[in-house]
Amino acid sequence: MAKIYLDHAATTPVDKKVLDAMLPYFSEKFGNAMSIHSFGKVAEEAIDEAREILAKFFHCQTSEIIFTSGATESNNLVLKGVVKSYWSKFNKKPHIITTAFEHHCVLDTCKSLEKENLAEVSYIKPDKEGIISVENIKKAIQPNTILVSIMYVNNEIGTLQPIQKIGDILKAKNQPGLPAGRKLKTKILFHTDATQAMNYFDCDVQKLGVDLLSLSGHKIYGPKGIGALYIKKGTPIKKIQDGGDQEFHMRAGTQNVPGIAGLAAAIQLVKNSKLKVQRILKLRNYLIEKVLREIPDAKLNGSKKFRSPNNANFTFKNVEGEGLLLSLDMEGIACSTGSACSIGSLESSHVLLSLGMKPEEAHGSLRVTLGKHTTRKEIDIFVKKLKKTISRLRKISGKVLQEFYSNK
Ligand code: PMP
Repeated sequence: MAKIYLDHAATTPVDKKVLDAMLPYFSEKFGNAMSIHSFGKVAEEAIDEAREILAKFFHCQTSEIIFTSGATESNNLVLKGVVKSYWSKFNKKPHIITTAFEHHCVLDTCKSLEKENLAEVSYIKPDKEGIISVENIKKAIQPNTILVSIMYVNNEIGTLQPIQKIGDILKAKNQPGLPAGRKLKTKILFHTDATQAMNYFDCDVQKLGVDLLSLSGHKIYGPKGIGALYIKKGTPIKKIQDGGDQEFHMRAGTQNVPGIAGLAAAIQLVKNSKLKVQRILKLRNYLIEKVLREIPDAKLNGSKKFRSPNNANFTFKNVEGEGLLLSLDMEGIACSTGSACSIGSLESSHVLLSLGMKPEEAHGSLRVTLGKHTTRKEIDIFVKKLKKTISRLRKISGKVLQEFYSNK
């Protein structure tokens, strides 16, 4: 049975060109970039070249790019590093604004900052369509707000956030020359987690108006365990990891040279593939229409218009997401669901709940994310198998689920 992979928001296969760019740095060019001999120089040159590629892509200076182990680390560094810097200067608790549907690496970091009494955090809810309102961000600003962290594209429902507009608001807030009473002591920094946006949306940091931007290699046909962070020159941020002077003293640890070479190669490919967005968008729209037409009681979650061209997220009434996922897996299809089953309980996706969905709706969700190799034939096979699976699951457990939720 040929397998069909429709989980590209989870990870993507490493492109052959990316692999080719990485291979020499595992073997003949294995040097440590910090060594001053010729082996080290070769590795250092590879990192310099990669940094230039990223700087061009993000429209910034090379000294503003640091390599990390992925978006989780980049996001941790942003939140903890900015808070640490503020404490070192002002010795008091700052305020952060983020959203209720960020990736767990942002949410959990915020929760741990709150738990340790190091920061106050406001979690802004999206609207029913999965979009954050610029006005709500504006309203949440307090005199001690030092950071606004909003994801560019949501990883579950694929909705696109108005990053540029939020950037404009913050720019205006940060402008000197405001009346004395409204003048802010510190600049409000703006961070975006662009992990799910890189393949399809403009990541020019000047246009977006961000001070910090996180990304990950494995979502863009690059390797796992590599990512980067754009840090605008002059941004008050402190390192959170000790033990070396790598990455402009911001990120201690021997650099992952093959990963860095691979990330740069992947970014080169993204540049070239932006033109192919229309193909994937057409295919995704075909999928959405087919599912909504052929499967009863199916609903698309999140805005259809402001959404990543490769993402479709559905809810199927009286179907349990985990069961659906496992049944599809047995049919050779890989997707993802928002609900995670732990013994005796079903935990709904925090993203779907933040849209105001009821747990029973959120439990029947399925995320389908297309990739550059996905074909129309695969979509046809997928919908056919999905239809069959849903009808079977509804026959087995639909009634039980219905009763379970009506008794709650
Ligand atoms: N942020 C978002 C929006 C993501 O989708 C992911 C990956 N699921 C991450 C952060 C974490 O990235 P990494 O795997 O590179 O740590």
